[in-house]
Amino acid sequence: MSKVTPSKSLISFCSAVLPQEAGGPDPEDLAIKLSLYLNRLPKDFHRGYIAAVNLFDAISWAKYQSRISGLTFDQREELILRLHKNKITFALIEALKALVLLVNGSYSNSPEIAAAAAKNPPVREDAKLNTVTASSYPSISRCDIVIVGSGAGGSIVARELSSKGADVIVVEEGQNHTSQEFRENMPLDRFASMYRDGGATALLGLPPVIMPIGRGVGGTTLINSGTCYRTPDRVLDLWHNKFGLEFARKDLFNKYLDDAEATFQVGPVPLDIMGNNGLKAIEGATKLNWKTGPLIRNAPGCDGCCQCAIGCPHNAKIGVHLSVLPIACQNGTKIVTDLKVLRVITDGSKAVGIYSKRTDGSKVIIYADLVVIAAGATESPGIIRRSEISSHPHLGRNLAVHPAVAVAGKFEEEIFPWHGVLQSASVEEFHESDGILVEATATPPGMGSMVLPGVGSKLIDQINDAKHLVSLGAMISDGPNGRVFGKSRTILTYKMSDTDGSRLIKGIEICSKILFAAGAKEVFTGVTRKPVLKSKDDIRELKEVADYKELHVAAFHPTGSIRAGTDPQICPVDINGNLRGCENLFVIDASLLPSSPTVNPQISIMATAKAISENIVNLYFN
Ligand SMILES: Cc1cc2nc3c(=O)[nH]c(=O)nc-3n(C[C@H](O)[C@H](O)[C@H](O)COP(=O)(O)OP(=O)(O)OC[C@H]3O[C@@H](n4cnc5c(N)ncnc54)[C@H](O)[C@@H]3O)c2cc1C
Ligand code: SF4
Repeated sequence: MSKVTPSKSLISFCSAVLPQEAGGPDPEDLAIKLSLYLNRLPKDFHRGYIAAVNLFDAISWAKYQSRISGLTFDQREELILRLHKNKITFALIEALKALVLLVNGSYSNSPEIAAAAAKNPPVREDAKLNTVTASSYPSISRCDIVIVGSGAGGSIVARELSSKGADVIVVEEGQNHTSQEFRENMPLDRFASMYRDGGATALLGLPPVIMPIGRGVGGTTLINSGTCYRTPDRVLDLWHNKFGLEFARKDLFNKYLDDAEATFQVGPVPLDIMGNNGLKAIEGATKLNWKTGPLIRNAPGCDGCCQCAIGCPHNAKIGVHLSVLPIACQNGTKIVTDLKVLRVITDGSKAVGIYSKRTDGSKVIIYADLVVIAAGATESPGIIRRSEISSHPHLGRNLAVHPAVAVAGKFEEEIFPWHGVLQSASVEEFHESDGILVEATATPPGMGSMVLPGVGSKLIDQINDAKHLVSLGAMISDGPNGRVFGKSRTILTYKMSDTDGSRLIKGIEICSKILFAAGAKEVFTGVTRKPVLKSKDDIRELKEVADYKELHVAAFHPTGSIRAGTDPQICPVDINGNLRGCENLFVIDASLLPSSPTVNPQISIMATAKAISENIVNLYFN
């Protein structure tokens, strides 16, 4: 397969987590695949992983005077089970195990994933985009408007401004992907190539939080779940009343939301493709008399193949690469791919272009009358810092995310959660009251077993039973508790508040109730001290023992790191999207939302981008 030679410790760790004697994979083969994947992750993450794995060999030596590779099957089982019961080593094993499962699951299920991708032809052709890779693009060029990032925010700006005749260039660090790749490439390759840091972007804190972020033409909409929520009225009131965003007045903003929804051709998930995962969520919530129903999505023609997170092989999910960028390109917009913007070029206090780097390290300069930064809430602050164009104390602060926990219910009957739409149904009963939104979310088979409890032969039993699971996610709108540091490289920190931690535990409780109401025989909670509930009576104990600092938390939807508003003390960007202190420089992506929209944010970001684009048209084109 490759020349990678994994360390003995890595092979041993694989054999302890998924023992071949109990039906697991060949540990050496798995360790090679894991090494190949680790090679694609940030170097410090890779080093940390290997150091942690070595620790287990050291522990084995201390107890048995032998590395794990020299232990018998029974000794290995005893060791890993014992360490899994210890509070500190439990957290470490769980973190390392997540990657072992991802790699093993995506390889062993790749034939099934490929078959589902090939089952139906694409419902629409790939878009005709005017893309050019940086290697074929001149080192110095000029345009009217250069936009950094081709995601939900940047694409709308490109569409709006090019429609007024502006000569627009969009610069995108990632690549342009095709639906053919999604039908033909290995699931793990699809995953690693379309996510920043190979999918291992982390928020540092307690608990540590993994936050996947997309990278490619279309930004995160390329790999997102396609759920489309309008910005709730109470959020718009906050943006308008507290932050002074005139365009967020409900009567005005609704027309931008209408535009975003029309662009994405949104509609409810049809019940015949929803799949059992969503149907069971609706059944459970309905029995509890809770507000529930199919999610609204942007995927006309979806066949429920459950692969949205690794690129829709049927072009059913019409992210901005299929809906917005084609119009921008028809208007003459050019998209330069594989080009990372390092900083903004200024002349005095005016932005006059961008300085960027090809993958071979050579430099590209694009001069422009206006510069728009739309690199997403985690990357845009770093570009501004590197450019030394703002020393605003709130730059990078107020990063809001949606921390989320996954809870799975095991049913007697076969569910096959991956036969159906990946994110399909919601339970909104606790959204307004507690800021907790439950969404039935599956993953491609084998690519999301993080919630499965146990290690060793028990874990293998769980993997074999995965077709009996219903998987729910509970996300909360947080503090905000995050911060974007870093100049040359983004560093994200997260200080979960006790209130938000308690709400996550409440989210687990809510999901457990839904799953039991729908008929689950047991529920996997992800809670260290109560990983399995046998009945709903166990929920009381779960609440008593759960500690949010020990939860498996993933986060999605970063927003607010360069927020917009009238108050210059707390908002680095003014209400027109203009970075304070720098003329001709706009920030138009998730960063400028003044608070979490409390729902999946792509529609809110697109609507805001259209509103700000209209401001720019009024300022510069009339
Ligand atoms: C797994 C997952 C599922 C999601 N599901 C949903 C969902 O169902 N519904 C929903 O509403 N939202 C969802 N989201 C979130 C949503 O997609 C994002 O909030 C939205 O796309 C953010 O828009 P943006 O324009 O701020 O950034 P992005 O869409 O992330 O675009 C930013 C682009 O800028 C590029 N870039 C960054 N730095 C540079 C640089 N230095 N130079 C050049 N280019 C650069 C990036 O590569 C990226 O392509 C999901 C997110 C994830 C990770
Ligand atoms: S489930 Fe997702 S990946 Fe599959 S067809 Fe529907 S939108 Fe595309």
